[in-house]
Amino acid sequence: MNKNDIKPSEATHFPELALNLITREEHNISRKQISDNALKVLYRLNSAGFDAFLVGGGVRDLLLGHTPKDFDIATNATPEQIKKLFRNCRLIGRRFRLAHIMFGRDIIEVATFRGHHQENTQHIAQQSKEGMLLRDNVYGSIDEDAERRDFTINAMYYNIANYAIHDYAGGVEDLEDKLIRLIGDPETRYREDPVRMLRAIRFAVKLDFDIEEETADPIEHLAHLLKDIPSARLYEESLKMLQTGLGLETYHLMREYQLFQPLFPTISEFFTADYSSKTEQMLDLVLDATDQRIEEGKRINPAFMFAAMLWYPMLAKADELMATRNFAYYDAVMEAGNLIIDEQVKTIAIPRRHTATIREIWQLQLRLPRRNGKRAFRLMELNKFRAGFDFLEMRGEIEGEETKQLAKWWETFQNAGRNMRQAMVADIDGANPKPKPRRRRNTKKKANSAS
Ligand code: ATP
Ligand code: MG
Repeated sequence: MNKNDIKPSEATHFPELALNLITREEHNISRKQISDNALKVLYRLNSAGFDAFLVGGGVRDLLLGHTPKDFDIATNATPEQIKKLFRNCRLIGRRFRLAHIMFGRDIIEVATFRGHHQENTQHIAQQSKEGMLLRDNVYGSIDEDAERRDFTINAMYYNIANYAIHDYAGGVEDLEDKLIRLIGDPETRYREDPVRMLRAIRFAVKLDFDIEEETADPIEHLAHLLKDIPSARLYEESLKMLQTGLGLETYHLMREYQLFQPLFPTISEFFTADYSSKTEQMLDLVLDATDQRIEEGKRINPAFMFAAMLWYPMLAKADELMATRNFAYYDAVMEAGNLIIDEQVKTIAIPRRHTATIREIWQLQLRLPRRNGKRAFRLMELNKFRAGFDFLEMRGEIEGEETKQLAKWWETFQNAGRNMRQAMVADIDGANPKPKPRRRRNTKKKANSAS
């Protein structure tokens, strides 16, 4: 390899990583803790003559005594060689080519060791002028692969051949010190892939680690680089940040590092120094509720979270439309909803099925106060009624008495039997008597059924 072929940034920012080998006797990982499917893949690769390692979160979490979310595998077999070994294999990805070995719903991800980039490999590796990696399919050795990983604690490899752990970047020590530390020069590594800033926050919260100083320092200054990340990737990432059980804490840490703003610019306009705006109160409520639901093993819907996060920014926009363009309230809310969602999906690609639900939840907020006649009974049959009601309850916490009373009414109504429900509606009908139809003869039928 000719040294002159290496880009200056690539040549200088990786320190020589020193391998620390931890033998089977010196660590606590046992094969029993690794899923059968992951073991199958590791052994098959190994018996075909390839190196095969468990790597990343799997090793990190096992060393910490946690149950890993999934098991990632790294090997010196190329994707094509992997495909030949497994019938149930699919090759995926452009930016990173990966093999997915499918065991029903369980997917084991197998990555070929990645190498460094050189000028003459531009067709397989590509960098933008900001230093961001656009394509990254240069294969390499295991130590090169280690240098390309993000944090020291994510660059530990469990070797299926002898059950030793290869620690290339001092991950074991950082695990003990509870530190999130980038491998290499932090600024360069963030510029290569700005999502690493989000990952630093995510792991700090998830593992309850500190972010090492040099890894933390450049974040605020580079946070704006997230604007260049494709919105589909940021959608996936935002769910991992906010919808996996520690959303509230993650959001607060994201804000401290100025990382929330580039993902949610419209929401951030309503941020205050003392976290007191309605938008901020709603963020706290919905993220806390989401964390609790996950803790209780209940289902969660991203649409509910996004609907809550965007509700007050949407209402502010509706106010503006009423003031400047003479919109009626209902139309203003609908139009503001469109505008706010259009704006949000520019940075976070919320899928259509979810944006439809967001609109439904918002629309229900306009309908829930109107309970006369058969309305309340009909509303309760709607698919999204429960979400709309939960949403109303959160609003009650923020907006005060009138909304709170309305939420109470709906709670009682849902729990009541048929007679009680009818009495509750009769109360409302009594308070707002139906206006007499003006043209009795022609509209008699309509007036009875659609009030
Ligand atoms: P978890 O799955 O628990 O969220 P993880 O560390 O396994 O954590 P993954 O996203 O599954 O995270 O990635 C697997 C491994 O791939 C990481 O541990 C890390 O070594 C490497 N990796 C992932 N994303 C990046 C990135 N953006 N830059 C460099 N390395 C990365
Ligand atoms: Mg993982």
